[in-house]
Amino acid sequence: MADYYGLLGVPRTASTDEMKKAYRKLARELHPDANPNDPAAEERFKQVARAYEVLSDPEQRARYDRFGEQGVGGAGQSAGDFFGAGGGGIGDLFDAFFGGGGSAFGGGSRGPAGPPRGQDLEVVADIAFEQAVFGATVPVSVRTAVKCDECGGSGAGGGTKPVTCSDCNGRGQVQRVRQSLLGQMVTSSACQRCGGLGQVVVTPCTSCNGDGRVITEKVYQVDVPAGVDSGSTLRLTGRGAVGPRGGGSGDLYVHVRVAAHEHYRREGDDLVTDLPVSIAQATLGARFPLATLDGDEEILVPAGTQPGREFVLRQRGVPRLHGRGRGDLRVRVDVQVPTKVSDFEAELLRKFAESRGEELHQEHGLFARIKSAFQ
Ligand SMILES: [Zn+2]
Ligand SMILES: [Zn+2]
Repeated sequence: MADYYGLLGVPRTASTDEMKKAYRKLARELHPDANPNDPAAEERFKQVARAYEVLSDPEQRARYDRFGEQGVGGAGQSAGDFFGAGGGGIGDLFDAFFGGGGSAFGGGSRGPAGPPRGQDLEVVADIAFEQAVFGATVPVSVRTAVKCDECGGSGAGGGTKPVTCSDCNGRGQVQRVRQSLLGQMVTSSACQRCGGLGQVVVTPCTSCNGDGRVITEKVYQVDVPAGVDSGSTLRLTGRGAVGPRGGGSGDLYVHVRVAAHEHYRREGDDLVTDLPVSIAQATLGARFPLATLDGDEEILVPAGTQPGREFVLRQRGVPRLHGRGRGDLRVRVDVQVPTKVSDFEAELLRKFAESRGEELHQEHGLFARIKSAFQ
């Protein structure tokens, strides 16, 4: 195991600038042009370049500090056998440590090859209002990639197995040294031959064309917890698409969309409904049947109830998604002013107003409207 700090001749606490200086000095000394036909210098040059490549990247440096060389994909040739034999085993290990993190392609100087994890998928689940309140198990249908049965996901057909890529020795990455204004630059890129997987399929499976997976429509039963609302997202770990050639599965994100209810609406964890009450009922009091989501109730509106007054049924609202208990059910009084009355009703109301000494506008027509507008 090479000590990258030792190779650069800097302390473990060195800043990026210090390392850059040390690297440039060493790169000049060890450059193959300055040391023709000196394999030892060339080897050291490569090692120094590798060390600088890792330590100059804060993320890789942190991995190296924690896990050593293995944490950053091993050291070129010395680790070649290891990865060849392991078939990306160490990649799986570090994916487990670092959470996989999407694509193993295009990662530039990422660790060794392993089949990339499959895509995360998203789907919208339309559910009824009551299902959101009380919870439900709902089916969601999603177009996804599943493991090819024919080849067991390896992508290799006819009873063959994938073989270690000879271009990259199974690392999935190739390093290229090139000249630039700043001197020698070492860049890592995904191996072209194996597409970064470290393994190549010689005889592709005919069902999946060597991809190791096939596209299909799949239905998952999703447990929607009580109390979700539109905009809630549920994550089903490992229910996304599988990765190519035996790669792990992504996750499935289920976005919940709750249908509106005819009578109830949500205000946080409270259920709210309007209770239409006539002027006479609000004035003199009345009883109203109320169909709640839990069953029938009766609301007693006492005499003299004002518009907008709320009657609260404690703990009859939506179960709290994060916490205990339920919200409240609030019944809001909506006093309805009649827009049409019969002559008889109008007469009664006039008498009512008269007895209370209330002024009424009795005039009709354009003149009355203008007058009232200027009052
Ligand atoms: Zn297949
Ligand atoms: Zn390769």
